[in-house]
Amino acid sequence: NNQMDQESLNAYEFLTMFYHHSLVHANGAEEAKAYLTGRGLTEETMKKFSVGFAPYKSDVTTTLLEKKSFHLHHLAHTGVLSETEDGKVLDRFRGRVVFPIRNHLGKTVGFGGRTIRDEEPKYLNSPESKLFQKGRLLYNFDQARSEMKKLNQAILFEGYMDVITADQYGITHGVASLGTALTDHQAQLLKRYVDGVIVCYDGDNAGIEAAFKAAERLKKAGLESRIASIPDGDDPDGYLKANGKEAFERKILNQSATYMSFVLTYLKRQYDPAIEASRMQYIDEAIRYIAALTKPIEREHYARELADEYNLSIDTIMGEVESKRQHIM
Ligand code: ATP
Ligand code: MN
Ligand code: MN
Ligand code: MN
Repeated sequence: NNQMDQESLNAYEFLTMFYHHSLVHANGAEEAKAYLTGRGLTEETMKKFSVGFAPYKSDVTTTLLEKKSFHLHHLAHTGVLSETEDGKVLDRFRGRVVFPIRNHLGKTVGFGGRTIRDEEPKYLNSPESKLFQKGRLLYNFDQARSEMKKLNQAILFEGYMDVITADQYGITHGVASLGTALTDHQAQLLKRYVDGVIVCYDGDNAGIEAAFKAAERLKKAGLESRIASIPDGDDPDGYLKANGKEAFERKILNQSATYMSFVLTYLKRQYDPAIEASRMQYIDEAIRYIAALTKPIEREHYARELADEYNLSIDTIMGEVESKRQHIM
């Protein structure tokens, strides 16, 4: 109910400050602080993102909340705290570095917590609740919004650390879908502020698969997307630290592929060009995607590319494209 939601919001605000304070000032947070410093974060960045640390001793958080007159069982019920089978209420993030997840109003509605000791799972999120619907939120949306609007562009990352590191390097229009596949709702949210999105996911297989799905969603929402590729299975966070901002902008962002050229490369990986039947399947699939392009110039451009690559006549390809187009219209 409303009152319990309000209490949860208050608790999330309180915990955001408490965790951040624990990270910066408390005894027992040295390891967490060293971990984040070791990953290159400055104290200013930790502050901007209210990065925090949840104390190891699980009753520190709960005792404090009780002292501030919060009802632990309400907070367990709404997912702010966790509850064991025998009814003991605990801080689920204990011993983890925490990243507050804010809604568009800048209010914390959940946390992501990362282990600093290689425990499983690497990240732990607040559970889905009325307040915390992952598919409707984008990490850092509240802070990135004005720069996104100014540049008419957003950068979509995979993770918290990618967003935060990019921000520290002065790239402040980055957001992340919270470890889940991008939803239509998130794509529409972006569409309200920008016309273009650069998808900048990890350079591993999972990242490429996810980028393909994200690009489809963005297209469906009417957004122009480009897809960046990070070499050697690295991610934007790692790449920025190893190569710096200038290289990231010049070699990654500026070199990002258009939606269609990414899709064609992506599809091609799934077929064997040495086998005729496989080649034909690829051409057929490619034509389906080209047919779905709304701009005639784009259809012709990619049809020509395909024709050249497979030594076919442009008329044949365009004929197929336009006939497939009849079916989708
Ligand atoms: P780090 O750099 O800290 O290792 P990362 O962001 O590179 O983290 P990835 O494994 O690439 O980690 O995951 C990307 C994002 O997916 C994370 O930032 C997090 O939001 C989410 N995520 C990853 N693993 C989990 C998990 N086990 N449970 C929930 N969310 C997860
Ligand atoms: Mn990843
Ligand atoms: Mn990653
Ligand atoms: Mn990473």
